Amino acid sequence: MESSSERNARHKKAMQRKKEHVDQRIAAATVDKGLVVVLTGNGKGKSSSAFGMLARSVGHGLRCGVVQFIKGQWECGEHLLFSAHPLVEFHVMNTGFTWETQDREADIQAAQATWAHAEALLKNPDIKVVLLDELTYMLTYGYLDADRVVQALTERPADQHVIITGRNANDRLIGLADTVSDVTDVKHAFNAGVRVQKGIDY
Ligand code: ATP
Ligand code: MG
Repeated sequence: MESSSERNARHKKAMQRKKEHVDQRIAAATVDKGLVVVLTGNGKGKSSSAFGMLARSVGHGLRCGVVQFIKGQWECGEHLLFSAHPLVEFHVMNTGFTWETQDREADIQAAQATWAHAEALLKNPDIKVVLLDELTYMLTYGYLDADRVVQALTERPADQHVIITGRNANDRLIGLADTVSDVTDVKHAFNAGVRVQKGIDY
């Protein structure tokens, strides 16, 4: 049987090999650029991850913009925190969920008026991070023209990061993104009858 010192020596050797591999990969990553990060999928954690990156960015003193394309029923903690922050410009679409408004024309008008704020942020080189929360639905429902969205994203300042959230991200968004995470729904408390919880859900 392997002694504990043999086991430790084997572990050390394996970790050395791993470190060499990781160091090589770190040394090979030399590019700095503005990223498009897409957070999609049916699981919980898309918007909260996006606002986590916003918190990091604000922590570093970066100027940021947020555009929320769907206004929920609840006053979100992220809005309460960041809309009052001097580094953050925060816009929220003034309609609720599309199944609540049930008015396609009004939704389209609201989406386009809200998109105008996103376009202005995507043209502003002083804004280093743009968060487009729940944008994917605007493309799925056809409220915004995909060409117009793709054009604004591709023509933005080269060092500007964009974070996009929402289920069923359009293939064109996935195509132009640098980082895409598909959040899987393994389990959600809501399905066990638990209502939305302050701090965790909104
Ligand atoms: P979060 O803002 O919590 O990161 P999300 O952005 O991934 O969630 P959305 O589809 O935008 O998810 O939904 C927002 C709200 O719906 C949150 O209150 C969240 O807890 C809840 N939610 C997210 N995923 C699920 C799910 N699979 N089943 C039920 N409720 C969910
Ligand atoms: Mg969300």
